[in-house]
Amino acid sequence: MRVIVIGAGLGGLTLAHGLRRAGIEVVVYERDGALGRPQGVSLHLDDRGGSALRACLPPAQVAMVEATTGGPREQTLTLSEVDGALAVVGTRPADGMAGRALPGRQVHRPLLRAILLTGLADVVRFGAEFTRFERRADGTVGVWFADGSRDTADVLVGADGIGSAVRRRYLPQVRVADTGRRMLMGATPLRAVVGTGLPGLIGDSPAAARVRGTTMALGVLRFGEPPEAARQRWLPALRQAAVAEVEDYLMWAVPVTQDPPGPAAVWRRAKELTKELPPVLRSVVDQAWPEVTVALRIGMIPPPPAWPAGPVTVIGDAIHLAPGFGGNLAMRDAHHLCEALVEAHRGQRDLLDAVGSYEDTMRRNSFATPVATKAGR
Ligand SMILES: Cc1cc2nc3c(=O)[nH]c(=O)nc-3n(C[C@H](O)[C@H](O)[C@H](O)COP(=O)(O)OP(=O)(O)OC[C@H]3O[C@@H](n4cnc5c(N)ncnc54)[C@H](O)[C@@H]3O)c2cc1C
Repeated sequence: MRVIVIGAGLGGLTLAHGLRRAGIEVVVYERDGALGRPQGVSLHLDDRGGSALRACLPPAQVAMVEATTGGPREQTLTLSEVDGALAVVGTRPADGMAGRALPGRQVHRPLLRAILLTGLADVVRFGAEFTRFERRADGTVGVWFADGSRDTADVLVGADGIGSAVRRRYLPQVRVADTGRRMLMGATPLRAVVGTGLPGLIGDSPAAARVRGTTMALGVLRFGEPPEAARQRWLPALRQAAVAEVEDYLMWAVPVTQDPPGPAAVWRRAKELTKELPPVLRSVVDQAWPEVTVALRIGMIPPPPAWPAGPVTVIGDAIHLAPGFGGNLAMRDAHHLCEALVEAHRGQRDLLDAVGSYEDTMRRNSFATPVATKAGR
């Protein structure tokens, strides 16, 4: 069996590892160059994503992820001003109920992606933008790229994110809707704000500070093991640049009503929005890395009716969106699809039956929630 995956994001790379380890030929085509665009700063990894990584990745990659996650996040704190100081005034369990997160740990997203790319140098083709496919009479799929090149596979997987060109061609009835919700999100080196007492107040838990009419989301990533030391111990093949100058930081997000005029204005806008907040929160934004501050639009995909299974399928944000846990769902899809394709490869079930059963599970488990995407994507 030969599988073509479009998109070297969290889902596509997890799938590629799993297929390769099962002896299935796989090639991943990625539109961006090898260094890619920044794809966010940190990610709340829960057991859906963690289990998928443990099932699909080689042990050294899993060890590297686990060594560098932050501390356990088992509740969400509510902060408010009490007698002029920021204080914890409530907690909510991380139980996955009513849109709440599941227990998990923070991971540094660029590091996770670099770990996922490690060991796949001969599998991932960068700078290759998928444009279209064609189902052939012999059951295979022809795949075309923007530079005019083409390839053929038994299965084509769209792991190409929210703007998925595979989905647009394969399932044109599935549309991404804009919920109208907007956020500005950034990160601040921990050393710059440690003196404010805020990192000590929230520990490893995600927090929502509700003050002076604004809600600001906060979360600290303290690496379990310094990334460079972990690289040497667990995964020396990881590119050194992925761990160089990586340090503990605090993530934050604030809601906005309009898109900022352009990327250069995003940090400035965040500073304006937070200028009336208590000095502790203001300094979090003032001391942030400007280039890491991004504007996000929250989108959603309404649950689509089932479609007949074929040799083309989709995983992750390409087909469903979830605020704050879409990465976990993308990796879980990768795991489930991998298991189904391995069964087909071993002759334990028909290929289309395997794809259909993955899609049934995915549709049942992953629909009906909005997701954050970078404005302009
Ligand atoms: C700021 C932010 C914070 C987030 N926080 C969390 C969190 O805490 N926890 C969580 O679980 N999720 C989080 N998410 C969501 C998570 O990032 C996504 O759900 C996840 O990245 C989806 O993975 P994916 O593999 O489906 O797609 P992506 O990771 O988006 O990867 C898609 C890939 O496909 C490539 N591609 C696109 N089109 C083509 C084409 N035509 N040809 C070739 N390649 C193509 C892209 O370049 C990209 O590399 C967050 C998202 C954002 C923006």
